[in-house]
Amino acid sequence: MTVKKVNSNLKHCNTCGLPESFPGIHFNNECICNFCINFQGLEYENNKREEYSQKFESMVKEYKGKSTYDALMCYSGGKDSTYTLIVLREKYNLNVLALSFDNGFVPEQAMLNIRNVVDNLGVDHVFIKPRFDVLARIFVYCTDNDVYPAKALERSSAICTSCMGIIKYSALRLAIEKNIPFITYGWSPGQAPINSSILKNNPAMVRMMQKTVFDPLHRIVGDVIKPYFLEEQHFNLSGHFPYNINPLAFLDYNLETIYESIKRFGWKKPEDTDANSTNCLLNSFANVVHKQKLGFHPYAFEMANLVREGYIDRSSALKRLDEPENPKIIKLVEDKLEYKGDFHV
Ligand SMILES: [Zn+2]
Repeated sequence: MTVKKVNSNLKHCNTCGLPESFPGIHFNNECICNFCINFQGLEYENNKREEYSQKFESMVKEYKGKSTYDALMCYSGGKDSTYTLIVLREKYNLNVLALSFDNGFVPEQAMLNIRNVVDNLGVDHVFIKPRFDVLARIFVYCTDNDVYPAKALERSSAICTSCMGIIKYSALRLAIEKNIPFITYGWSPGQAPINSSILKNNPAMVRMMQKTVFDPLHRIVGDVIKPYFLEEQHFNLSGHFPYNINPLAFLDYNLETIYESIKRFGWKKPEDTDANSTNCLLNSFANVVHKQKLGFHPYAFEMANLVREGYIDRSSALKRLDEPENPKIIKLVEDKLEYKGDFHV
């Protein structure tokens, strides 16, 4: 595969930078997109943040110390989830179990970061590592075929959606088995809206949502994928269904503070990842495939949200999205996946 950029002659929103190739976008006469026009404003966001932050504090009082662990943190080792883990320990004093996923493409430095941070923070840790041949089959199939509906691909690539599905339901399964009240994520405020930052899982909803990931993956690789999803025995434990919490949506999100805090716990920036991910080499490959197939960057929506909410400026967001992936990393991924598929550009 050769590495090509998204067509840079596209029209972009004057406010948030979202391109005209993004699904469902339209512009007014001043070239401002419908997402910006519908944005409720920073004051609304700040009030919501305060409301959710207080809600979480009262939930911490209610649940802390009642189970083996207070929270199961989905810990990628990236900057945002590392910072979230620190906040859970230092600000809320929670007893956290960290869960990381090894998809075969975690850079050496990211592995080191994970090990250093959990030890320096005094956090127990579990790795989930499915067989690589199974994961490789999924990644290759997702590259050559349309596995998910277009709506599911507005905010992440098909490869990321597969990994995230496995992580999300593995975490839920483990939290139910251990009766852990909170599953915590390190999504940036651009990735997850404030209104969904505290969500109680319920069996009927989970059953429906799980199907959208489990069914396609099961068709690709069969029963070997079952251990990573909820089975009937889990659905029967409805009293053990945890809350999903995304603290960065309601706490201060400041990149300088984040980098400073995580450095204190031994975190170092991996040298060999691309601009949008500090913890996964496969991400570069997934981004290239997504851009070529769908005509927009899988991080475009997140970046536009961060611009709208005042976390970064429009030109640095566009610059980041415009940065080409490193051809060496793409080659490394193709070799490791033994990719000989139909997708070529
Ligand atoms: Zn916009």
